[in-house]
Amino acid sequence: MNGTDPAALRRFLLEGAAPLVVKIGSSLLIGEDRTPRREWMAGLARQLAGRPGPIVIVSSGAIALGRAALGIEGRPASLAEAQAAAAVGQIRLAGTWADVWAESGRDAAQLLLTLDDLEDRGRYLNARNTVETLLERGIVPVVNENDTVATGEIRFGDNDRLGARVALLAGAELLLLLSDVDGLFDADPRRNPDAKLIGEVPVIDAGIEALAGNAETMGFGTGGMVSKIAAARIATAGGCPVLLANGSHDRPIQAYCDSGTGTCFHASTRPLVRRKQWLRSLQHSAGSLLVDRGAAEALGRGASLLAGGIVEVRGDFRRGDLIELRSDQGVIGHGLCGYDASETRRIAGRRSSEFETILGYAGRGPVVHRDDLVLFDR
Ligand code: GLU
Repeated sequence: MNGTDPAALRRFLLEGAAPLVVKIGSSLLIGEDRTPRREWMAGLARQLAGRPGPIVIVSSGAIALGRAALGIEGRPASLAEAQAAAAVGQIRLAGTWADVWAESGRDAAQLLLTLDDLEDRGRYLNARNTVETLLERGIVPVVNENDTVATGEIRFGDNDRLGARVALLAGAELLLLLSDVDGLFDADPRRNPDAKLIGEVPVIDAGIEALAGNAETMGFGTGGMVSKIAAARIATAGGCPVLLANGSHDRPIQAYCDSGTGTCFHASTRPLVRRKQWLRSLQHSAGSLLVDRGAAEALGRGASLLAGGIVEVRGDFRRGDLIELRSDQGVIGHGLCGYDASETRRIAGRRSSEFETILGYAGRGPVVHRDDLVLFDR
């Protein structure tokens, strides 16, 4: 996509040839009567079907939709209830999407993903191939988290992050987050009449993160602004800009195009290559390595992490697991560890010439190879 001003975004949404991922929150999809907002969904599909480029939908709403069948008022009380609700709701949600896309002349396909699926390189590549194959044939993938099996730490936790990861997987040139807020404000717009919408975010810095934190505690937004910023961080680091806009209107894409109201997070000017995008987006680390200043500097220059620079090893991880890299400044990045935790503990602070004596074999090179790590201070 060329440019991120509202005019360029409008053109891309309506006429773009590259993939667009649209993530939609539950509140837009499920009505107060606890049924799918079919007309709204049909309107969105009609608008998007006219766009030349591929479309991917990341749809929430399964749990909200399934509650009625289980007789649950409000939020499900237990994980099992939420999962059962998702099982009931998802079939209906996907069915409604399939119907509204069919009315607009397009086939839809269902993809249910768990965090595990995208953290495992092999499964990630399978999912990517599936999405590419569908998009080549003009089919619209409708993606949700596989809530019936995903629990606790193996969850994306929210569909904003799932949306960002799907955007990178699909090679999208824009992630549109449709929510019930107009965008990111510099204060809570419901409490502060002077709150201003931030139209463009060139870089997600500490100031932007702080706004998100406030927004979360003030409670506006469905998935919360924190998860939206986290999603924007993942997508923009991979080179995909993110537009946060209000989807409450009947024809949300047109409404954005008419008003230009929303927040656009610019893509990084130095996007990571695809393998690094995948690495960057991994969420669940099994442990951490504290590195000394010299090692942190070497990492900053693009070097691998050698055992000699490791000061402390935390957690219980296996070779190939994701671990956090920390310096005295806090978390600086993460990567896939070349050794088990017990081996890493034994070689921490040591030279590779000592590995034979310590491990009984010559080792397998650096503890975290530079191809297997990403730094966050970009
Ligand atoms: N996957 C959940 C559902 O479909 C929604 C998660 C979210 O809203 O972020 O009900």
